[in-house]
Amino acid sequence: MRRDIANLKLAHDRARGHAQWNGEINQRELSKLLDEMEITNEVRFKLTAGVYKRGSHRWRKFYHYVTMSKYLTVLQARKTICHELTHAVQLESFFKSGCTQKDWDEAYGFYQRKVGYKNNPYELEARAAYRCFDHYMVIDQDPYLHGWNPSELGSGDTLANFRLLRDLTDE
Ligand SMILES: [Zn+2]
Repeated sequence: MRRDIANLKLAHDRARGHAQWNGEINQRELSKLLDEMEITNEVRFKLTAGVYKRGSHRWRKFYHYVTMSKYLTVLQARKTICHELTHAVQLESFFKSGCTQKDWDEAYGFYQRKVGYKNNPYELEARAAYRCFDHYMVIDQDPYLHGWNPSELGSGDTLANFRLLRDLTDE
């Protein structure tokens, strides 16, 4: 089922002319971005096969562990990397003020319970970060497909599913 969802997502993104991220990160641009965000600890990236979650950030004494789904489009990957690095900034600002990871978990958890993921201020900040940092071409791949041909989508089933997905997700 997960695989079906992944394939559906890939077909859907492709039909919109959005290129899939190839999993590569431009290290030169990344180090400039880390400098600007003032992230001082090491950041390690891992590709996952996530279809429900675009990315995640964890602190693993003593580095940031960021996962990103291999099913992201280039545009989604650009947003996701800024999002997860913002959580790194948030955690490091806790450290800088003498707080611990536990304090961070509690603060984050407090808002999760109070206002939920969607309105958690740490998530709001992470979601907004992309607008501040999109001038770094951390993912420098062309985000759009050129000369795309709808027949590449494949079987009628996929097409029917794609229409369903498009109706559900396009606003
Ligand atoms: Zn987040």
